[in-house]
Amino acid sequence: MQKEYDTNNIFAKIIRGEIPCDKVYEDDKILAFNDINPKAPVHILVIPKGEYRSFDDFIAKASKEEVIYFFKKVQEIAKKKGVSKSGYRIVANHGKKAGQIVFHFHIHILGYN
Ligand code: AMP
Repeated sequence: MQKEYDTNNIFAKIIRGEIPCDKVYEDDKILAFNDINPKAPVHILVIPKGEYRSFDDFIAKASKEEVIYFFKKVQEIAKKKGVSKSGYRIVANHGKKAGQIVFHFHIHILGYN
């Protein structure tokens, strides 16, 4: 498995504004946008702006504050999009064999409303 963060991955380009996205939320630490190929009625990707390849990399390298901030925001975004009551799943694929295709850590929010 490749270990280096590739600064030319598609989500890095989205963070830099080189590729557009259907933005749901942004601040200085995180970005959330609609998945281009939705697998649920609500399908949002939440990413930290820091350079982390996957969930595993994020948890290993990010500070506790960053991790807490990130997951609090995932919950807030789900709530704001109205799926907290109806139901949602969160998914993070770590590694090619597990289905990861973009090597910038992201959480999928799959909401059913
Ligand atoms: P994963 O398989 O966990 O790496 O998921 C990558 C996700 O990124 C897939 O659900 C894709 O549909 C989504 N995706 C890829 N390119 C874009 C893009 N430009 N904008 C929004 N979502 C994207």
